[in-house]
Amino acid sequence: MGEEILQGESMEEILQGEAMEISLKDLSKKLEEFAKARDWEKFHSPRNLLLAMVGEVGELSEIFQWRGEVDKGLPNWEESDKEHLGEELSDVLLYLIRLADICGIDLGDAAAKKIVKNAIKYPPKVTF
Ligand SMILES: [Mg+2]
Repeated sequence: MGEEILQGESMEEILQGEAMEISLKDLSKKLEEFAKARDWEKFHSPRNLLLAMVGEVGELSEIFQWRGEVDKGLPNWEESDKEHLGEELSDVLLYLIRLADICGIDLGDAAAKKIVKNAIKYPPKVTF
């Protein structure tokens, strides 16, 4: 049995992708538990989290740096490069979720409302 690293899930379950049906709220709760368990909450101010996220955006950008244009689906990439990309995308997402939580923003709700707002601002082309 794997070591319990997050409440209710073992490391094996997570690594095998058995915990994939997960909501933004679930991730937010896990990040809160993660910070609490390590006494890192004192470091999680909005500004610190924003700067950490920007740092992760830099790490994400490095993956694409010097590659030129990249085809959708990344057909010519090594699996290890794709795995690295997934990790850096996750770092950005997790800091974004934590930042939203610490700021008291319901990110799922805000994002859904923003899509509606964008749809009104940019209506689809109607052809007759
Ligand atoms: Mg990173």
